Amino acid sequence: MKRRLSVPKDLRDFAAVFSKSGYSCYFVGGAVRDGLLGRPVSDWDAATDARPEQVKGLFRSVIPTGIQHGTVTVRWRGASIETTTFRVDGEYRDGRRPESVAFTGDLLDDLSRRDFTINGMAVDPATGEVVDPAGGMDDLAAGVVRAIGDPIARFTEDGLRPMRAVRFAARFGFSIDEATFAAIPATLERFRLVSAERVRDEFSKILTCDRPADGLRMLYDSGLLAEFLPELTACAGVGQGGPHRYDVLGHSFAACLAAPPDLELRLAALLHDVGKPARRAEAEDGSLSFHGHELESARLAAAALRRLKYPNAVVDAVSRLVKHHMFDYRDSWTDAAVRRFVARVGLEWVKPLALLRLADSGGMGAGPADPRSVMPLIERVESLVAKDQAFGLKDLAIGGDELAAAGWPRGPAMGRALAELLEAVLDDPELNEKGRLLDIAARIKGKYGVGD
Ligand code: ATP
Ligand code: MG
Repeated sequence: MKRRLSVPKDLRDFAAVFSKSGYSCYFVGGAVRDGLLGRPVSDWDAATDARPEQVKGLFRSVIPTGIQHGTVTVRWRGASIETTTFRVDGEYRDGRRPESVAFTGDLLDDLSRRDFTINGMAVDPATGEVVDPAGGMDDLAAGVVRAIGDPIARFTEDGLRPMRAVRFAARFGFSIDEATFAAIPATLERFRLVSAERVRDEFSKILTCDRPADGLRMLYDSGLLAEFLPELTACAGVGQGGPHRYDVLGHSFAACLAAPPDLELRLAALLHDVGKPARRAEAEDGSLSFHGHELESARLAAAALRRLKYPNAVVDAVSRLVKHHMFDYRDSWTDAAVRRFVARVGLEWVKPLALLRLADSGGMGAGPADPRSVMPLIERVESLVAKDQAFGLKDLAIGGDELAAAGWPRGPAMGRALAELLEAVLDDPELNEKGRLLDIAARIKGKYGVGD
């Protein structure tokens, strides 16, 4: 591995503004780590001995984004550079945020407060020299996430760090150093104090990395997962029989891995079977069934995601995907069956559901699922859409206004009549004309207690 890291010219020029005024400026943390790994660097975070007010004096555009922690954002040649004054953290009394921060003139003090050796390096932009007091380069080369200093003390300061350890390990395919890993179960009490929002954000990053199953396994083995998703860890040891090689937990992890790296799909794949433990029934011949588990799973998933403070849009999308995941597409489906399916799940959910279905079958342990099992459904739906066929009430050639004009009072009966008209149109799209639908409506009036 390289022991030096060259810094792009614009950022060297940025740092030169500091040195011209007698301050030092390094790039730190994730940029050094990712740069040394040869990965693209997304943010170059700067650290300096200049105080925030002094940084303000050096540049035209400085935004006080985290001034209480010594962080400002400098606009520089079209980029935004987070610039933080060297600091040491005060006590972390609540396990969330330091009670106070103190500025220091010493880069080494600043690096020593950082969480992991691979995150505790700085680069001098002028020379490309890497400052590495904790042995981060060796750990990068060995593929190890290791806390700086005593892991129990570091995890007791900030209870989110164990999840960060898992995230970096999952993202880079690293292992977690033994003592660092052992400190996770030992400090779970601190983890419980972390806000749901911080846990959520780390969890989302773990789920959307290339190999989320490794991270999930580490979350499970360390005891973290049981703390924030007990409904999922309750799936451990729940056997399934049939084509399944894994228990429900193992299957959930494998399905998550098989899903595309989209947050909602990964969450849906992970949680699609959480209702199985409650719905498991064993017949006399020993065969297993999980009737109605998709509804129970959708309910449990929504409750868990709400607890983790996911936005409503995510909660709704995931619970909808989970609720409808049990369809079994066959090429023998008639067009009417395809239209009924679309009417039930909603047009925009067809593709995500197909992807979830593939992830579900791919997660059974018999190798990746064959996309040909479900992708033709998407093509068939597209061709029906191209023919302008109706899938929902809004696509019907008549609505409440037309029925009202034909003598129907507004109310629940009208709603049921429209649903019946839609059923007829799903069966036979030719019926979707104003005159034909009004004829049918006239014929069914009596059934709904509507007089002529
Ligand atoms: P990413 O690529 O995900 O942004 P990153 O390493 O830049 O990774 P950030 O969360 O942006 O991670 O944090 C920037 C740096 O700040 C880290 O590299 C680490 O040195 C330090 N840091 C961040 N969060 C913590 C924490 N909770 N405890 C200790 N140090 C932290
Ligand atoms: Mg970062």
